[in-house]
Amino acid sequence: SIPLTFFGGIGGASRRGILIKGSNYMDALSKVDTVVFDKTGTLTRGVFKVTAIHPEECDEEQLLHLAAHVERFSTHPIAVSLREAYSHEQDGCTVEQVEEVSGQGVRAVVNGKTVCVGNTKMMEQLQVRFHPCELVGTIVHVAVDGEYFGHIVISDEMKSDAREAVAALKAAGVRRTVMLTGDRREVGEDVAKQLGLDEVHTELLPAEKVERVEALLEAKADGQSLIFVGDGMNDAPVLARADVGMAMGGLGSDAAIEAADVVIMDDKPSKVALAIALARRTVGIAM
Ligand code: ADP
Ligand code: MG
Repeated sequence: SIPLTFFGGIGGASRRGILIKGSNYMDALSKVDTVVFDKTGTLTRGVFKVTAIHPEECDEEQLLHLAAHVERFSTHPIAVSLREAYSHEQDGCTVEQVEEVSGQGVRAVVNGKTVCVGNTKMMEQLQVRFHPCELVGTIVHVAVDGEYFGHIVISDEMKSDAREAVAALKAAGVRRTVMLTGDRREVGEDVAKQLGLDEVHTELLPAEKVERVEALLEAKADGQSLIFVGDGMNDAPVLARADVGMAMGGLGSDAAIEAADVVIMDDKPSKVALAIALARRTVGIAM
């Protein structure tokens, strides 16, 4: 039977913006060994700004315009940001056969031409020759009918409490803090270093994130648990695999909120350490 205080713990957590979907997660939360974060939308805001535009076969406006059109239906933070940087609703572009390739980008037929918008992996798969990019920033390449059109450099900001969130986990005795991302090595390593994370794995496809989490589950100490924290964009399978899957409630998709065991309503990563502290207090009282 479940001690009554566990329900009190859930109520207390919900008043602090942490929705715990069952008292069974209290125990796992109270003994966390490893915390794994997704990057975009979890530790960073998921609001990208365009920092540079490098067109090759058109002008800057046209490159942004093409990318924004292809990204028209995507809910990925990169897509939303590009649409905000450039969207002309009434310019008579026809966008058909839109296909999102998770962890890579989007392709669509725009005015009869196949336009691909995505990362290096996507360009390599298309065998499109692209030019070396700068050292900083997330890169969005654009190719039209197999021809390289250039790239857009975008950059995201750290959430204001991200550093403190990682420090609080260390102070709580969490042994291993890890970040997984599909973004470039240069970007992922920079974020991990700034935040003081123990480990970072970059350029991962969604399926590779699952493999990483499985390896981390194998490696955790006996009787301890692993938390995965994500925004749900491409990471619902990982949320399901972790001992405790946590999703950002504001940014997260409905699917992520559904798949998660714990929802952080205000999207603050510092709530992970708070959830652990509240669970420890609750479990401590119950024993
Ligand atoms: P993260 O691990 O940072 O949360 P994702 O797994 O969602 O990122 O995506 C990994 C990478 O795939 C992104 O950094 C980007 O390069 C590329 N990508 C994914 N979706 C899109 C999109 N809609 N438009 C452009 N690029 C995308
Ligand atoms: Mg993501």
